[in-house]
Amino acid sequence: MSGLSPIVEVRDVSITFPGVKALDNVSFRLLPGEVHALMGENGAGKSTLIKALTGVYQIDSGAILIGGVERHLTGTASAQEAGLSTVYQEVNLCPNLSIGENVMLGREVRGWLGIDWTATHAEAQRALARLGLGDLDPRATLSSISIAMQQLVAISRAMVTDSTVLILDEPTSSLDSNEVEVLFDVVRRLRDQGVAILFVSHFLDQVYEISDRVTVLRNGR
Ligand code: ADP
Ligand code: MG
Repeated sequence: MSGLSPIVEVRDVSITFPGVKALDNVSFRLLPGEVHALMGENGAGKSTLIKALTGVYQIDSGAILIGGVERHLTGTASAQEAGLSTVYQEVNLCPNLSIGENVMLGREVRGWLGIDWTATHAEAQRALARLGLGDLDPRATLSSISIAMQQLVAISRAMVTDSTVLILDEPTSSLDSNEVEVLFDVVRRLRDQGVAILFVSHFLDQVYEISDRVTVLRNGR
């Protein structure tokens, strides 16, 4: 893997909040087709690093390179445009809409008479199949499936934009061990498609099972 050029490179990044240096000259690289775990105690700076990568926080110094080019991310939209998608712990979807509508929300296929639902659901079906979720009926209501499956729908939604980087912030906290395995199957499948996955977890056994490399943050370093 050392021969691959990184999709994301964080170079000497610092972020200071009043009274605390949340990130102190942090450098790390995310390679295509790797699962990279981000670990560290509470307050170590994991969320701050993710928010820097998703443009929620501006960096005080250092640089963030995506595909070898320095980018100044100004928000989730600009991060997404740069190919970085994030799925947070709490699923952020609409339970009363269909699975397919959730996957395609804001990116529905349009025809002569507004949204072409047949084409939109077909597109959703393709997005789900890419993750090995081809058995899910895109027309079923989101609330009819488990929270774990809803989280996978959230990942499908994140990947509709063909992101090269998927960031998962503590994705396993609300899952049982079978559900974690289903999630990990999806993660491996995306990894094998060349997506870089940055995965925040507190669970060492899960980190050892799924990760190719690990970065540990401690006091922002
Ligand atoms: P982690 O996600 O690893 O638990 P965080 O990135 O949330 O750590 O926090 C790193 C440090 O920065 C902590 O000391 C935290 O209190 C501080 N911090 C995080 N966000 C803010 C903020 N918005 N304002 C002030 N301090 C913050
Ligand atoms: Mg955190």
